[in-house]
Amino acid sequence: MVFNKIQEYGCEEIAFCYDEKTGLKAIIVIHDTTLGPALGGTRLWDYQTEEEALIDALRLARGMTRKASISGVDAGGAKAVIIAKPEQKTEALLRAYGRFVDTFNGRFITGEDVGISMEDARIIAKETEYVLGISEEVGDPSPFTAHGVASGMRACTSEVFGTPSLSGLKVAIQGVGAVGYNLARILNQEGAELIVADIREELTNKTASELGAKVVSPEDIYSVECDVFAPCALGASISDETIPQLRCKVVAGSANNQLKENAHGDELHRRGILYAPDYAINAGGLISAYIDWKEPTTEGIMKKVGEIEHRIGEIISESKKTGEPTHTIADKVADERIQKKKKEKAI
Ligand code: NAD
Repeated sequence: MVFNKIQEYGCEEIAFCYDEKTGLKAIIVIHDTTLGPALGGTRLWDYQTEEEALIDALRLARGMTRKASISGVDAGGAKAVIIAKPEQKTEALLRAYGRFVDTFNGRFITGEDVGISMEDARIIAKETEYVLGISEEVGDPSPFTAHGVASGMRACTSEVFGTPSLSGLKVAIQGVGAVGYNLARILNQEGAELIVADIREELTNKTASELGAKVVSPEDIYSVECDVFAPCALGASISDETIPQLRCKVVAGSANNQLKENAHGDELHRRGILYAPDYAINAGGLISAYIDWKEPTTEGIMKKVGEIEHRIGEIISESKKTGEPTHTIADKVADERIQKKKKEKAI
């Protein structure tokens, strides 16, 4: 089963990490190192099966390779998942994981993701220098990711509504966690109308009281009549079940792997719903971590994250020219850069 999956997703290496003392079970997927060391956050999640965890890591790692490539970042893609319930997350478990990360000697560099906070990442960093996104100066990548999503949203609204302004836009945000909440703040500042849903009531209450957002249930967020649907929770929110419910003109959010299958991107295209490819629009966090590592300046990060608007604009233009869906165009652009580099290196 494992080698079939390696072939299917085209990855270089999978490491299964187990620590008897802490009960750590982790899977590290190094997808591609053609462009540089493989960067990818670590997700802690209570996966129901090991296969589910492996497939999540493979899909996310492939997305990281394409995210770095399309964003002009000289890094490869990876992802790690720790199979655990939140209450199993102890300092000892995180440090045991950090020791595994260290064995890659910089070929794999990690950071936070769902279930792993910046504080957790700092604990992992007690055992290895290969952790990004934890500096005092730049720190949490999620505000940069939100800034990038807002930038990419402008490219979409320019295309669909003829203006990059987000003022007056009606945006339905699924998930108001680290990125979703920061996105809500930016949109509120720019005069957008917000409808939000989250499985954590305290987060929707906060967004409603601070930003005047209307709250709907997690089930109802798909069918809200709006200009933009912004998936900022987990993956696979665009599926056979949800597409018929959508009443938006644009899908643009931060979640990784928003399309359950590529066919769902084709279906959005067929229905005339503009989709901002997830790994292109949500690259702000990766860009901030990478620049913080290589040449730390917050100004440099904001400039590079702002380029997401132009990048999404180019994808939209190419999609209009060729008639192909935006997700197909993004895959081609990302994969071409890697293939070109492979030829240069004669791999
Ligand atoms: P987070 O865990 O802080 O927020 C996710 C939120 O979604 C949580 O509040 C959670 O309660 C909510 N949620 C989960 N299931 C839901 C459902 N069915 N309906 C409504 N809400 C639901 O995570 P985050 O860091 O904000 O990341 C959000 C997404 O963006 C993830 O898919 C992540 O992989 C992706 N992403 C994050 C970053 C970053 O910088 N943090 C960068 C790139 C991509």
